[in-house]
Amino acid sequence: MLDYRLRDRLDEVFSNIEEARKEVSLHHIVKIVAVTKYSDSSIVEKLYSIGQRAFGENRVQDLEEKSQILEELPLEWHFIGNLQKNKINKLISLKPSLFQSLDSLELAEQLNSRLQNSNMKMSALLQVNSARESQKSGVEPEKGYDTYMEIRERFPNINLKGIMAMGRHSENESEVRQSFQEAYRVFERVQKDGATICSMGMSGDYKIAISEGSNMVRLGSVLIK
Ligand SMILES: *Cc1c(COP(=O)(O)O)cnc(C)c1O
Repeated sequence: MLDYRLRDRLDEVFSNIEEARKEVSLHHIVKIVAVTKYSDSSIVEKLYSIGQRAFGENRVQDLEEKSQILEELPLEWHFIGNLQKNKINKLISLKPSLFQSLDSLELAEQLNSRLQNSNMKMSALLQVNSARESQKSGVEPEKGYDTYMEIRERFPNINLKGIMAMGRHSENESEVRQSFQEAYRVFERVQKDGATICSMGMSGDYKIAISEGSNMVRLGSVLIK
């Protein structure tokens, strides 16, 4: 893809985000994580050259490959995919700046013990399945708060920083909005215990997500496809 096209797309995203965030509050700042799972490292490099710093991948293998090719650049890598048990050690060794898709107590337990073994910590978000779709992972919103607090108490090597959620897959905007509202309610409660990140919104629904309180959006196709 030509550079100017990427710049145009990023500019358009910036202005959409500006519009949506200002409706929430002038103090509401939204961070963009560019999801590069559909593209190779040259696109990451181009996005970096026009100011993007945070990138997300959903396969450990791809995260490893791209972060190694680009290791000279000061990039911030986020892991946003389903983490299989046999990839936990690999993910730890890659030291992602944020693991956004911690989706169960069981995974937290395993991750914590591997982190302890290597005397390391990892920042993470609890994934909440507020879309209530069986093909999406995450804890049920009703259990979100308790699970969050349990992870904080029992697993000291995991540094929980907030929640991540995906909007419902629906043509009906009010259903999408509702799923973000449900996730935001969990965020509001954990915020009182120091959580700062509410990661919601992808290419098709980030404006709605921001208006419902998201302060981190994960954007792939709107930038790259
Ligand atoms: C792929 C993916 C995204 C980005 O999706 P787009 O619709 O292309 O913006 C965001 N979050 C997660 C968890 C993803 O897997």
